[in-house]
Amino acid sequence: MTDVERRQDRSPVPKDWTYAPAPESTEIVKLQDRYELFIGGKWVAAKEHFTTLSPRDESPLAEVAQASEADVHKAVAAAREAFPVWSKLPGAQRSKYLFRIARILAERSREFAVLESLNGGKPIKESRDVDLPLASAHFFYYAGWADKLEYAFPNRKPKPIGVAGQIIPWNFPLLMLSWKIAPALAAGNTVVLKPAETTPLTALLFADVLRQAELPPGVVNIVTGDGRTGAALVDSDVDKIAFTGSTEVGKAIQRRVAGTGKKLTLELGGKAANILFDDAALDQAVEGIINGIYFNQGHVCCAGSRLLVQESIYEPAIEKLKKRMATLRVGDPLDKNTDVGAINSREQLDRITALVEAGKDEGAEIYQPPCKLPEKGYWFAPTVFTNVAQSYRIAQEEIFGPVLSVLTFRTPEEAVEKANNTPYGLSAGVWTEKGSRILWMAQQFRAGVVWANTFNRFDPTSPFGGYKESGFGREGGLHGLEPYMDFE
Ligand code: NDP
Repeated sequence: MTDVERRQDRSPVPKDWTYAPAPESTEIVKLQDRYELFIGGKWVAAKEHFTTLSPRDESPLAEVAQASEADVHKAVAAAREAFPVWSKLPGAQRSKYLFRIARILAERSREFAVLESLNGGKPIKESRDVDLPLASAHFFYYAGWADKLEYAFPNRKPKPIGVAGQIIPWNFPLLMLSWKIAPALAAGNTVVLKPAETTPLTALLFADVLRQAELPPGVVNIVTGDGRTGAALVDSDVDKIAFTGSTEVGKAIQRRVAGTGKKLTLELGGKAANILFDDAALDQAVEGIINGIYFNQGHVCCAGSRLLVQESIYEPAIEKLKKRMATLRVGDPLDKNTDVGAINSREQLDRITALVEAGKDEGAEIYQPPCKLPEKGYWFAPTVFTNVAQSYRIAQEEIFGPVLSVLTFRTPEEAVEKANNTPYGLSAGVWTEKGSRILWMAQQFRAGVVWANTFNRFDPTSPFGGYKESGFGREGGLHGLEPYMDFE
């Protein structure tokens, strides 16, 4: 018997070709039982606390402080006190701290990625390969601007605004923190940050990064809590509010801030169209469409949640899409093979379920690939709706879940008309081999970001933001510094 035959003898042919579980260890994360508020470089005890859960199995992770109005005022006062020294530091000194933060985030990235997936439910391969590298890259990028502000805004004499109140959502907790904190500090402002109620833990761990970086006390303050804490921050003595979240809360904030002289930027919802022309590389496009909607369980403001397919390729496109959907692995966010993790919260699961029911009632046809969902935790199978009319709620409203609505079109003009026909205007995608068509479409879209033959690509150098009810102001790139500056 040859060696090869002998080995075949010993190694049985697998009965089943599905992946074996590949769970990431959670040992690297050392959770405290209880977290307080990070104010003036110290942990300050709050009167009330709430429990933060893991959406993968509803297990409690830690107690977190519910900041009261008085706590928020304390945090703003600490930021105000830190402002004169911080804003007058030479830009190169501020750079130094930002570089340190970037580097520590990179060094502790596994710990942060595991915690992000535990608390938020996103697949570890996304928190590890997308959220953490990008969060660190944002600090690196803005570190580079801190000592070059006069060159960034020539002849405009830029100066910092003062204290920025920053309110972030639960879909990219650490990444949204870095989108907000990095440009604010580079420009010389100090900050009070409120993380989302369901995902406060990476922001609290970030406080430890600030300690390691020896950032002066009060430059960054972190107040956890629910919407009441956010509202108290909006009403407090800050000079600017930067908000990312729902359009509804964004509008409410805009009303409260009106007439106060506070600066405001809003990064709100979206209902992006991903437009597939019949000359596109279909297999590549299907990958991009899958990534566009099922990345991060569809909890993405710029998700490609509407697919517009040119009629001539409708059947093969939908067939390929469904086939690819059937290969998505839904389950434990901590498993390295998982493609679609847990829905962030019970409330979000209820919201997705209600909108999917509305889609069925309105007459759309639903497809969900067969997949076994875990018993505990919050889960929703990847879903696609066909036979969708432009007027249906699932074609108009942000679902913020793994749900794709498919519509068709015949001409580029019709595609543009349909793409722009929602209250939102955050992003759009085009799949075609014609460069001239891409450029023409990009000019027609009322959308802040347009991707061509790709989707959901982010880079710290690239500005991001919306039109219409998707908000105003830009984050990222040089544009992202401007909302944190005053000009003489
Ligand atoms: P919210 O807009 O309520 O949450 C965003 C942030 O604002 C959170 O930190 C939240 O705190 C805070 N907040 C809530 N109420 C107020 C207030 N009155 N004043 C100031 N801050 C406040 O989004 P939800 O979490 O309720 O999600 C609802 C829907 O919003 C989702 O289904 C989705 O469609 C959309 N959404 C869109 C996002 C985007 O990036 N475009 C991000 C998140 C949600 P807390 O978490 O404690 O409530």
